[in-house]
Amino acid sequence: MNRLDKNYLIELELASLFELRALKASPKEAVAQSSPNKNASPSLEGEAPKLSLNPNTSATRLSVAGKHRTIDARVVIDAAPALRDADASSNARNVKIANLSWDELAKDVATCKACGLCSERRQVVVGEGAKTATWLFIGEAPATEEDAVGLPFVGQAGKLLDEMLIASELARDKDVYLVNAVKCRPPGNRTPTVEEVAECAPYLDRQISLLAPKIIVALGKTAISRLHLGNTGETMANLRGKRHHYREIPVVATYHPAYLLLKLPEKLKAWEDLMFAKDEYGKTIA
Ligand code: URA
Ligand code: SF4
Repeated sequence: MNRLDKNYLIELELASLFELRALKASPKEAVAQSSPNKNASPSLEGEAPKLSLNPNTSATRLSVAGKHRTIDARVVIDAAPALRDADASSNARNVKIANLSWDELAKDVATCKACGLCSERRQVVVGEGAKTATWLFIGEAPATEEDAVGLPFVGQAGKLLDEMLIASELARDKDVYLVNAVKCRPPGNRTPTVEEVAECAPYLDRQISLLAPKIIVALGKTAISRLHLGNTGETMANLRGKRHHYREIPVVATYHPAYLLLKLPEKLKAWEDLMFAKDEYGKTIA
């Protein structure tokens, strides 16, 4: 039976994941029932800040113009490489982080003050999963629950992600490693800025090289732009269903689970994306 067949999903008792019955009855009603996470950043699929490079400074700096957010599934790429390469003073830090072991990295992150997010965090959220996992899922940032517990994806969005993993027959404690683009919670669960993402980038890069996953799933705009997928202004519709790469590792882009909590009909697309990722994973390990 086709894995996208709705009857197959119902058979697997995945109706709760995609709320198929509700969706079938009335999409509007289903959205109302889907109890959106009020803490979720509404910009998870929204337009990222417009970025401009200022050629007048010796170290190329970014100015961020505008912080409006709209839920239009647009993904805007990305000036993190410019930030990272430009700031010579951070090179020593980058080199140090690039050589840390898993344990050293956890200790280093725990005391990191490289960006302003350190001041309001309760706990850093380094990541979670088996160090032998072949799948890496990258989210945006810890939210309230993650900040309290010190683990990624433990709140409402995490519960949906859990269901998505179960539906995809991926074991959270064995097949999957979960991380965020930034390791500290932005105040009010806002979207992290490009500067914050850039400061935290060496940690994520080191986690990627230590794990050496066979496939990466980028969850939402921040992860997508962090991995430099697509072109400026590209929409999720364009990014989905394609094999991208980050450091030669295959990457699949999909919606952030917090966004899916607000946008019920997109859940089926997220399911398609995970099935696409499974096919890409199959090709990679073949
Ligand atoms: N959203 C994320 O992107 N990451 C988490 O860990 C929780 C919510
Ligand atoms: Fe350091 Fe990353 Fe936390 Fe910023 S978000 S303080 S760079 S660990």
